[in-house]
Amino acid sequence: MLVETLFYCGLTATNNFSYILSVSYNHFGVNIAMAILKVLHFPDPRLRNKATPVEKIGPEIKEIAENMLETMYVENGIGLAATQVNIQQRIVVIDISEEKNEPLILINPEITKLEGSETMREGCLSVPEYYDIVERAEYIEFCYKTLDDELITTSTDGLLAVCVQHEIDHLNGKLFIDYLSLLKRQRLKKKIDKQEKLQHNVL
Ligand SMILES: [Zn+2]
Repeated sequence: MLVETLFYCGLTATNNFSYILSVSYNHFGVNIAMAILKVLHFPDPRLRNKATPVEKIGPEIKEIAENMLETMYVENGIGLAATQVNIQQRIVVIDISEEKNEPLILINPEITKLEGSETMREGCLSVPEYYDIVERAEYIEFCYKTLDDELITTSTDGLLAVCVQHEIDHLNGKLFIDYLSLLKRQRLKKKIDKQEKLQHNVL
């Protein structure tokens, strides 16, 4: 079944540096200044790093997760993996709700079962302005730890299942374009090289 749903996993950075956005942020009961993180763009080799498991869920991990969530919301993404912001730890944030008020934070997420298949049109803000159809499992079972160090085992399908698979791929250094044909990837690479050349020609 072809589902013409467009979604963004990741986001676009507007400059080369992270910057601080002063906002009140209440997801975790504290008001703090949030950092908007810079997102790496394909073909940055750091997107190919394999993230390591989080060993201890302390204040540093909570801060990373908060900043990742804020970054995802500011850029209208529905998912973001730590690898995309050059943090090599197994952390994913997702929010597929329309109101953007149902954040899901996955620490050390792992897929334990994949079933069926479906195709969706995917996008990734680490690969800006490029969308294509990808085939993935329709139903997944997965587990993860929450920021409270609680182990959750659950299952899902549809958009959330696709998003979890897309984000865990990032933690393993894999991008959605890796599922495309060699010809499509070559075309994309040419397009990006051309854009980079044009940017360099601007004085
Ligand atoms: Zn992505």
